[in-house]
Amino acid sequence: MEAKESILYNIKHLSQLVFEVTDACNLNCKYCGLNSLYKNNSERKGKKLPFYKAKLIIDYLFSLRERPRNTDYPLNLGFYGGEPLLNMKLIKQIVSYLENIKFTKATYGMTTNGMLLNKHLDYLVQNKFQLLISLDGDKFHHSYRVDHMEKNSFERVVKNIKLIKKEFPEYFKEFVQFNTVLHDRNNVEEVYSFM
Ligand code: SF4
Repeated sequence: MEAKESILYNIKHLSQLVFEVTDACNLNCKYCGLNSLYKNNSERKGKKLPFYKAKLIIDYLFSLRERPRNTDYPLNLGFYGGEPLLNMKLIKQIVSYLENIKFTKATYGMTTNGMLLNKHLDYLVQNKFQLLISLDGDKFHHSYRVDHMEKNSFERVVKNIKLIKKEFPEYFKEFVQFNTVLHDRNNVEEVYSFM
């Protein structure tokens, strides 16, 4: 297969599309790829992806598929940041756009720092978002994950995790996972034990 055909084939059969919906974040983790630890880090500008740009790629994807409205090609939409919950307006626009074109096999996922989950929980549960919540372990393990005032985010994140577990236990079991960064304040055994 020629390179061009191969690229088109893979775009046409794409099973996962991830949007970086914003580079803004309500945390300022010490090891963040957008933080000063990295020499060539790209400066955080608080930008938000506009809907028209997301729509361009979705429309292009469907234009390559012969039967865009059927369910032959499941598509998972991922939302990433920065902190994606800071651009919920866009996420809701994308979900609603896909629903309107009756692409019934779309599923959704998000990597989140968990700080704003309490504000958007009903919507996320209703739309069966697969959540990947960043949690580095217990309070000390999590202490590189600070806000802009240098305050550890642990208590606020765990409060939201407990809220999901209490209000939506079935959803919690099926749709919530955790993402841990390993560093010099945690280790695999202790994190497992804590989880
Ligand atoms: S939550 Fe993620 S994007 Fe935000 S500062 Fe931490 S590592 Fe960076």
